[in-house]
Amino acid sequence: MMFFPKGGIDRVYLGTDTILNRCPACEADKEVDILVSVCYFHMYYIPIFPTAKEVTLICSKCDLKRADLPFSDKYIKTYNEIKQFYKYPIYLYTGTVIITFAILLLAWSIVK
Ligand SMILES: [Zn+2]
Repeated sequence: MMFFPKGGIDRVYLGTDTILNRCPACEADKEVDILVSVCYFHMYYIPIFPTAKEVTLICSKCDLKRADLPFSDKYIKTYNEIKQFYKYPIYLYTGTVIITFAILLLAWSIVK
């Protein structure tokens, strides 16, 4: 029987909001719905660490949808005001904490 590590990238949604942002189709500042998500690496469905924060922008006037853009000030005018509401969830580091404790426990058992 072969052993294949089961891991990959998954996504969790952080939240939605409506902000005033520039729409490239309307070429004006319009109300834009945003959906912020985080991609994370997992092994056996245990999150190891986040890999990217992305945003989907939907213009309320022309319904232009721009998906999977990087969550940065390049695409969001009010990025510095809203970034504090969309932080990486701490549970996405669960696997990193487990691996760190396993290494520390192993090192402690060798030193003891
Ligand atoms: Zn638009």
